[in-house]
Amino acid sequence: MFRQLGFRFADKNMRKSRVVQVDMNVTVRADSGASWYASRGTEADAFERAPLTYDLDVDACVIGGGLAGLTAAREIARRGWSVAVLEAGRVAWSASGRNSGFVLPGFGTDPRAMVERVGVDRARELWGLSEGGVEYVRAAIRDFAMPGVDPVDGWLDVSKVDNGDEMLAVASLLGQDFGATIEGWPTEQVRAALRSDFYFHAIHYPTAFHIDPLAYSRGLARATLAAGAVIFEETPALSIDPTGVRKRIATPTGRVRAAHIVLAGNVHLAPLVPGLADTVLPVTGYVAVTAPLGERLAAAIAWRGAVSDTRLANHHYRIVGGDRLMWAGAGGLRPGGPRDAAQQFQGAIARIFPQLGAVEFEHAWSGVMGFSLHSMPQVGEVIPGLWLANGFGAHGLNTTAMAGELIAAAITEQDDRWRLFLPYELVWAGGRLGRLVRHVGMWSLGRSEDWAASMARRREAVRRAEAPGGPVQAAAEPASSPAAGHAEAAAHGRHVPPADAVEVDVPEVESLLRKAAERAKETHADERGWPHERGAPAEEENPPFGRNSRDS
Ligand SMILES: Cc1cc2nc3c(=O)[nH]c(=O)nc-3n(C[C@H](O)[C@H](O)[C@H](O)COP(=O)(O)OP(=O)(O)OC[C@H]3O[C@@H](n4cnc5c(N)ncnc54)[C@H](O)[C@@H]3O)c2cc1C
Repeated sequence: MFRQLGFRFADKNMRKSRVVQVDMNVTVRADSGASWYASRGTEADAFERAPLTYDLDVDACVIGGGLAGLTAAREIARRGWSVAVLEAGRVAWSASGRNSGFVLPGFGTDPRAMVERVGVDRARELWGLSEGGVEYVRAAIRDFAMPGVDPVDGWLDVSKVDNGDEMLAVASLLGQDFGATIEGWPTEQVRAALRSDFYFHAIHYPTAFHIDPLAYSRGLARATLAAGAVIFEETPALSIDPTGVRKRIATPTGRVRAAHIVLAGNVHLAPLVPGLADTVLPVTGYVAVTAPLGERLAAAIAWRGAVSDTRLANHHYRIVGGDRLMWAGAGGLRPGGPRDAAQQFQGAIARIFPQLGAVEFEHAWSGVMGFSLHSMPQVGEVIPGLWLANGFGAHGLNTTAMAGELIAAAITEQDDRWRLFLPYELVWAGGRLGRLVRHVGMWSLGRSEDWAASMARRREAVRRAEAPGGPVQAAAEPASSPAAGHAEAAAHGRHVPPADAVEVDVPEVESLLRKAAERAKETHADERGWPHERGAPAEEENPPFGRNSRDS
């Protein structure tokens, strides 16, 4: 296990804090590729606020104008407190406006892992909070009549293997122990909705839905203003002094004093609070949208809700804009960025929905997510008056809403529900090596999932061939190895990702990398802690701040 940092939420030792200075020459760099949402040019694009150019006294200052920061600010303002949001770039320029738009209950971690860690009662409460996040988003869209968000109900978590035991275990935990609203779908029902023999059974989450997240973020920003908050764009928080009753935040052209600070900067917090930022691992996710596919899309995919068909959100998709397919996946080392990812998506679509024929992507982009090591969000009070809403990973649409509401209630009403997250402490996420561990882990998990799926389809083909009156035909697919599957796809003229079918012992690789990471971390142990003026912020593929502020 990783050594934990020398602090936890609300640790008294943290009170000896110092001012943290951030390089003044920071500029925000957008992640790679313009998103389809931005290209839609809806009314929601009109949001723009001026930078802070004066000194300001407020009850609460929120650092970060993504979904976490906006929700926290809106909820603080709705309770009658004065609140300012400082956003280094434009509202929702990062993950919040560039994600795949699945609003799902739950968290990034497996519900069974939650039960193992915190017990079934607390896990049920946490699950309930995550469902509250889904309902928050739904209510905000409805109550504020947000334009362009286009919510569509339902999420299918589809299995590519024919062994229902695992899914049954999850379904019974969710349905019976957590009281979640879910439905089990048998293979025939799944294949009527998603016409692919890649798929077997599924869990349907009827309360989940999908949205245009950029339109939602901007709608939420307007709702935040309407609640009485002020938002300053192009206003990076350069330093904070969190000591004392009135805490101080410096920006390039103005200062803020506040009784409470909420840090909601995701992976971009490194220049401001490197120690805290080191507890979040940046992982790049990719999204691509096809050109209009016409009627052939509805013939292949009769379902309008969201679909996930592999673990770790590695492949998920939905129909957008009437007849376009949005396909998304995370992780992997992709030197070619979104274009590489889109090519890989083409290969996946060709395999899963061959009836679609060749599909062309018109938009492809990436965004950066922040993962904690336990894949649960970091929600809580770090020192008195300094709050953290971070580490939402790939499951941020509901959890940012949940966290924003929890923190606002804690600040204004001393609501202590955020303490349910105390078992999920701040754990160092491994810097560059940690990132590699994650990429290797996700990549090899994807390979082994492909392999299991291929075996499942082969078993099904054999069953059909052996059934009385069934077709007398060989197994539909070769089942020799992932590499053979690769060669087969290539032989059929389909695009295949680079031949990377090397056997990898995931636990062994992870353990080696973890040990190396631990050693590297221990070497610098005495330089760490929070806040500190030096130290190595978390490594990331797309540093958000253009100039390399960590070098200064
Ligand atoms: C490609 C992709 C697909 C995804 N798909 C889904 C999905 O389908 N469903 C789902 O639930 N989640 C999804 N996610 C995850 C989700 O988008 C994120 O978890 C969520 O948006 C995080 O919100 P945030 O407010 O914490 O961070 P961000 O959106 O990153 O916002 C943080 C903001 O803080 C600002 N900031 C940082 N430091 C400072 C500073 N010093 N001063 C001022 N401002 C600062 C930054 O400029 C930034 O705007 C996806 C993410 C990606 C990248």
